[in-house]
Amino acid sequence: MNAAGLPGDAVRYVSTRGASPALCFSEALGSGLAPDGGLYVPERLPRFDAPALAAIPDARLADTLAALLRPLLGEDVLAPRLDGLCAQAAAFDVPMKPLAGPGDHWIELFHGPTAAFKDLAARFLAAALSALRTARSEPGLPVAVEEVRGAAVQTVLVATSGDTGAAVAAAFHGREGFRVLILYPDGKVSPAQAHSLGAFGGNVRALRVAGSFDDCQRLAKQALGDAALRAQVPLLTANSISLGRLLPQMGWYAMHALRFQRERGRRLNFIVPSGNLGNAMAALIARAMGLPIGAVVLATNANPTLSEFHDGAPYRGRDAIPTLANAMDVGAPSNVERLLWLAGGDEAAARALIGVQRIDDARIRSVIAAAEARHGVAPCPHTACGLAVLEDLRAAGDTRDWAVAATAHAAKFLDVVSPLLAASPAPPPAFAALLARPARADPLALDAAALAAVLREGWG
Ligand SMILES: *Cc1c(COP(=O)(O)O)cnc(C)c1O
Repeated sequence: MNAAGLPGDAVRYVSTRGASPALCFSEALGSGLAPDGGLYVPERLPRFDAPALAAIPDARLADTLAALLRPLLGEDVLAPRLDGLCAQAAAFDVPMKPLAGPGDHWIELFHGPTAAFKDLAARFLAAALSALRTARSEPGLPVAVEEVRGAAVQTVLVATSGDTGAAVAAAFHGREGFRVLILYPDGKVSPAQAHSLGAFGGNVRALRVAGSFDDCQRLAKQALGDAALRAQVPLLTANSISLGRLLPQMGWYAMHALRFQRERGRRLNFIVPSGNLGNAMAALIARAMGLPIGAVVLATNANPTLSEFHDGAPYRGRDAIPTLANAMDVGAPSNVERLLWLAGGDEAAARALIGVQRIDDARIRSVIAAAEARHGVAPCPHTACGLAVLEDLRAAGDTRDWAVAATAHAAKFLDVVSPLLAASPAPPPAFAALLARPARADPLALDAAALAAVLREGWG
């Protein structure tokens, strides 16, 4: 044990605000906000030198991911299990395909069970928490890990605007020792999203809440802050700001950038449709660790927080504006705090790490309507923001190689895309199977006591 009470060579995770005790990877991966209100980050970022970089495999996502995460675990209790965790998480393809224009590509992050990119990291987190649960008693196991292992059944409570809830539900579905309760805003997610949230059954239960996504989050926070409730019903958050939901996303940027560099001798640049900045932060962290990733440009929807910050205004969080790209409806992206950390706390340096461009709903519609003719693909509304940024870069004469992160499959958002496309896109097989199952979601009033009562019930 070292001074922080961590096992000898475990990598330490600290708060961006610097006033919380350090954690090891196992503890940090599922943690939401640190007690001081900051976000957990590795105390030091490992850097791959040329020989270490050359040794990172690029053929299989699971292997690339394990190579990237290994130095971030150090001698964490999960380190001996890392290969298996990555194999469980990355059990689907993430192909890069050329688009119609020269130098244009997209990487398809939507081949997981719920057809959006959040599957990968949710599956990693679920596999890791399962592994911690069953880990045999080991000397020096941190206290928080003991808690996960000791409890009879953990309830993963997740508020969602659509994609997160399904990814977390799929990842924990059927996992012994866990059950999931999803809160989603009734009528504010796409019909396919709503169906998928209610289609798991078993240890997963979905509640449609009479309110907004923010209301759902408030309800979840109230339950998580209720010590008496938590003593009866052990709760986990699987929060999107947890490192377990962020770091695995380094894998796809690293794998494709390495392949591109090795085959063409050039850096690949990325356009990332962004809301809370989790996916894009993974690209930036991988680049800071030495991976040959070029520019990272964030494509946002009409929510202006990130573009205004990037244009020089002080950071100002605000309420989210609803848009067609609903999974990016974020008005106060908490990962900006990690962006500042990566830039050593300097705002100008943070702005220089990224590009940002804002895309409104009218443009999303026009990009989707023209995408098959112009790019040869049918994008979801989020990915359409990325394609819009690509089009604008080309119009301005940019000749670099770009890959747009295709963050979800268009079939998840048929209500938006069908009227704009010649033919409705067919859902990928795993998601089609989910849509074919019967779905059930019970109504929930905006009331903490009603939620607590459900949490005390048994299901699954
Ligand atoms: C969650 C989500 C995003 C935004 O990702 P962040 O990590 O929050 O920036 C973009 N597109 C889709 C389809 C999503 O589900």
